[in-house]
Amino acid sequence: MKNAKKIEAIIPPPAPHMVGDGFREHGFFPGGIINKRRMSPFFMMDYGSKIEFSPSEEPRGVGVHPHAGFETVTIAYHGKIAHHDSAGNSGIIGEGDVQWMTAGAGLLHKEYHEKEFSKLGGLFQMVQLWVNLPAKDKKTKPKYQEITNSMMGRHYFADEKSFIEVITGEYNGTKGPANTFTPMQVYNARLKKNAKVTLFFPSNYNTGMLVIEGLATINGNAVATDHFTLFNNEGEEIEIEATEDTIILVLSGEPIDEPIAAYGPFLMNTWQEVEEAIESVSRGKFGVLKD
Ligand code: MN
Repeated sequence: MKNAKKIEAIIPPPAPHMVGDGFREHGFFPGGIINKRRMSPFFMMDYGSKIEFSPSEEPRGVGVHPHAGFETVTIAYHGKIAHHDSAGNSGIIGEGDVQWMTAGAGLLHKEYHEKEFSKLGGLFQMVQLWVNLPAKDKKTKPKYQEITNSMMGRHYFADEKSFIEVITGEYNGTKGPANTFTPMQVYNARLKKNAKVTLFFPSNYNTGMLVIEGLATINGNAVATDHFTLFNNEGEEIEIEATEDTIILVLSGEPIDEPIAAYGPFLMNTWQEVEEAIESVSRGKFGVLKD
């Protein structure tokens, strides 16, 4: 490859922390070598690696919390997640589905294991991304994009079994359904053993990949399950060869070159705006949501 993207780091899963009692997350970023701007427009990635939950009558999860100034993107690989918000929205994110929630001006939110899943217990694996919004769209009205697996774009490769599942952006003319405020690509590469694929992203786009399942050679480096590959902002090509059946979450986006003031669930441009958001929550401006 003449124009290969160089790998900056292959990052093993950081020690997990619990979000509520239902989400065991490896906080890949921000943190470690990936600062608040390094993967912009992707601000945060929490990865719930595969875990078996025992049956529970009371669904595990995380109670009422605010969000403002960004989007939460929840990708379910195993298990089901139920959510509710203060605008009266609710829904279930099933296996293979994605929920793209624009918190924007602000809302209250809660997330739990879905009732039936909780009763039966089982395998759980998911990713939650926080995608930053540009200053001009920070206060946009909250909205949801419920993206079921069948809505996603699919580009099949020569073996007719391996494909890129496009959540947003496009791969070789195949588009994904999620609308975004800034340019980005989010894919699942679902590859069978020995499949070899090439991806292209502009060199200025911040780009990274998480191996969800399997083992792959990425630009010549073996990358194991649950490891995140961070690319330098040089070169454009990425070649992936699946050593076994593999699923890889691919993130690439144009950086948002604006100041960041981040505090808990608020992602703003200035500290003044963070204080205003905290004040809005205490005044009930984000609405009401019962635990
Ligand atoms: Mn939330």
